[in-house]
Amino acid sequence: MPNMSPKKNEMPVQPPEARRKNFDEVALGYTEEQAINEADRCLQCKHKPCVAGCPVHINIPGFILAIKNRDYRKAYEVLAESSSLPAVCGRVCPQESQCEANCVRGIKGEPVGIGRLERFAADWYLKHAEDDLVKPEPNGHKVAVIGSGPAGLTCAGDLARLGYDVTIFEALHVPGGVLVYGIPEFRLPKEIVRKEIEVLKKLGVKLETNMVIGRVMSIDELLDNGFEAIFVGSGAGLPRFMNIPGENANGVYSANEFLTRINLMKAYKDDSATPIKNAKKVAVVGGGNVAMDAARCALRLGAEEVYIVYRRSEAEMPARLEEVHHAKEEGVIFKTLSNPVEILTDEQGYVAGMKCIEMELGEPDASGRRSPVPKPDSEFVLDVDTVIIAIGTSPNPLIRNTTQGLETNRHGCLIVNEEGLTSREGVYAGGDAVTGAATVILAMGAGKTAAASIHKYIQEKHNQA
Ligand code: FAD
Ligand code: SF4
Ligand code: SF4
Repeated sequence: MPNMSPKKNEMPVQPPEARRKNFDEVALGYTEEQAINEADRCLQCKHKPCVAGCPVHINIPGFILAIKNRDYRKAYEVLAESSSLPAVCGRVCPQESQCEANCVRGIKGEPVGIGRLERFAADWYLKHAEDDLVKPEPNGHKVAVIGSGPAGLTCAGDLARLGYDVTIFEALHVPGGVLVYGIPEFRLPKEIVRKEIEVLKKLGVKLETNMVIGRVMSIDELLDNGFEAIFVGSGAGLPRFMNIPGENANGVYSANEFLTRINLMKAYKDDSATPIKNAKKVAVVGGGNVAMDAARCALRLGAEEVYIVYRRSEAEMPARLEEVHHAKEEGVIFKTLSNPVEILTDEQGYVAGMKCIEMELGEPDASGRRSPVPKPDSEFVLDVDTVIIAIGTSPNPLIRNTTQGLETNRHGCLIVNEEGLTSREGVYAGGDAVTGAATVILAMGAGKTAAASIHKYIQEKHNQA
């Protein structure tokens, strides 16, 4: 008889008062007992609706059954059939709108904690796995991967397992993409990403950091240098701004810059080369995961007041529910239905407040969400000294500007077919570079698709020769 409790086993967390002062992981993970109890809530549905909600179609009842049977290695193996980063996805996937949204237990209560169980099995494996990786036999073909985010890492891993000689070219000095420079340590410990990357290295994947493709070398040069196919997983790291007066003031950051300084350059330390100082009253503009991460980082840097300023209502916020909940618990103040109109500056050009206007929700727009419209005579000033802008990003144009015949859409995203092939033969792409800012699991799924297509392309080319 399954466990018919309508509620998920709660995730143990650091108390809000303690965690808002440190960068340690907030969610601590299920104990074995909690995991088995949660696994027991799964009804092992024959038609598996949860699987349809997962972009990479993980055999969810399969891995949960293995946890229930205490066969954690098997649980990991089931996860690894479809996902190369389960410890990451178990932590950061928007489960509430994907797998868990389809879980039948969600009809009369809370869905099974699929993400929490995935994290449990993946963490168990990372802790207990013996070093039993066997380097595949080389097949003599070279592939280049541009970018080491989840799309690039997944594509590289899948190709390496098939025997390809894969080199990842990464622009930054550290591999991992947004997983290391964007998502903060308290949500995704970097040790986990490092371990996943170690696995790839053991499979023979070569990593070249500080290699900005399009500057140091072009895609055409890579193709001329013996790489038979290329995967572009260069993400969408170019921040958007609001184009309002005062946006160039000292103390205005894009969320990407703010988070990179903290995650990669240790800006929270006084002796850091790029310290962030005097951020005592902070406004973060936006309502997605990036905004929540920036707001919670600002608190941890010692800010006394941190606001989320979002032009729609909380119901429309794109951030994961858990991040909104955690941000509130930690003391972030939500100013929803508010939109900035001007950043005020003092005589030295530093931020001295942010003028906003209240909004109302009007008719639904193209995205299906009700569009916000300004409320007349409702301007107000937020007393802040720092503004962080987290209203979205787009792909950097460098690669498309330095590669002949690479088609993009009007948002600057690379255009690919269902196999991940761009308009150039042998050049594949996926992840945020194609979709615009999206999710880790979608980027991973695209990396997988492209790896399979690249394999097919190279094999067919050589069979014809
Ligand atoms: P990226 O992760 O952006 O990696 C691209 C890599 O390519 C980077 O390392 C970049 O340096 C490199 N690169 C770029 N140009 C070049 C070049 N010319 N040459 C060489 N290398 C290059 N998603 C979720 O599912 N859940 C979350 O909770 C979540 N939170 C997020 C929080 C933040 C702060 C941010 C910024 C994003 C978040 N996302 C989240 C989105 C998710 O991280 C991205 O959708 C995902 O990382 C995209 O993967 P990618 O591999 O396409 O690109
Ligand atoms: Fe759910 Fe994401 Fe895991 Fe798929 S990868 S089962 S969507 S948590
Ligand atoms: Fe288990 Fe829910 Fe999937 Fe059914 S829908 S198999 S209960 S996780």
